Amino acid sequence: MGNLNPNLRIAIQTIYERADAAVIKAGPRCEASGRCCRFTEYGHTLFLSQIEADYLLESAPPFTEVNSATCPFQVQGLCTAREPRPLGCRVYFCDPNYQEEGQRISEQGIRELKVLADEQGLPWRYAPLHIFLREHLEQANQHTLEEHLEQAKEHADSATQNSLAPEKPHKISLPLTS
Ligand code: SF4
Repeated sequence: MGNLNPNLRIAIQTIYERADAAVIKAGPRCEASGRCCRFTEYGHTLFLSQIEADYLLESAPPFTEVNSATCPFQVQGLCTAREPRPLGCRVYFCDPNYQEEGQRISEQGIRELKVLADEQGLPWRYAPLHIFLREHLEQANQHTLEEHLEQAKEHADSATQNSLAPEKPHKISLPLTS
């Protein structure tokens, strides 16, 4: 687990559980085509809030590439970030008979997330998935770079100290005399 405030984590889970229950009640049909996660191909964008992105990235599998066309967590048509996936993933179904109810569930969930962010004193930010993923990678790369620089500095400091240390006197074995 990451650094998310535990109360915030539980509150997000509760909002997701309510949305999941509403979706189950609505009963949209799913053909498991995986198209909901291939954004450009099927002409939609997955938006999420900052608190959802933090929750997702706390436990989602590692990824190395980001683009706006697909989700890096979709592997062989399946979601590998199922537990922390955002509201948009939970409520999106292509079933034409579900669209109106899906919209209602989505709007309700977003309202609840916004209230939660306000209660926690967090700024409300709502953006496409790839924006958050890119920022996450940039921060991770920056962190790695800083660690390397720190290690290099420690290495250089210890090399300087060794070169300044007085040399140990050589032991000389004198020939024994009788
Ligand atoms: S998080 Fe999972 S459900 Fe959401 S877009 Fe990515 S792969 Fe699809």
